Amino acid sequence: MTSDVRPISEISSYHAHVYYEHRTRDAAAWLRERIGERFLVTLGRWHDAEVGPHSGSMYQVAFSAAVLAQIVPWLMLNHRELSILVHPNTVNPRRDHIVDGMWIGLPLTIRSEVLPEHADAEDAMEPNTSPDRDP
Ligand code: ZN
Repeated sequence: MTSDVRPISEISSYHAHVYYEHRTRDAAAWLRERIGERFLVTLGRWHDAEVGPHSGSMYQVAFSAAVLAQIVPWLMLNHRELSILVHPNTVNPRRDHIVDGMWIGLPLTIRSEVLPEHADAEDAMEPNTSPDRDP
């Protein structure tokens, strides 16, 4: 264990992965619409099957550090029964997802073996929402 302090400048952006099952897909759709109405984020497409390290159907919400402080407490209050992984994006996707993320709702399994330990840190993407409501 290194004693080096990691500065938050390591973080290029954030993801929230919203997981759902057949039974909870409507709740996930409801949440997705409410997020889009309130936050300047990039809503990723629906993955109705397991993809990459994710052990369930999910969609991704990508956002900048400026959005984090508002969307996380909002998701805490509004996730319903959904599990959500919020993680930073640095140069180490494996660590980002497995070690440094936080769960809202029940944690799920992440397949660490498919995640690289080195990658270009992902900057926040162009938002595709037009929020017009307060969180
Ligand atoms: Zn992610």
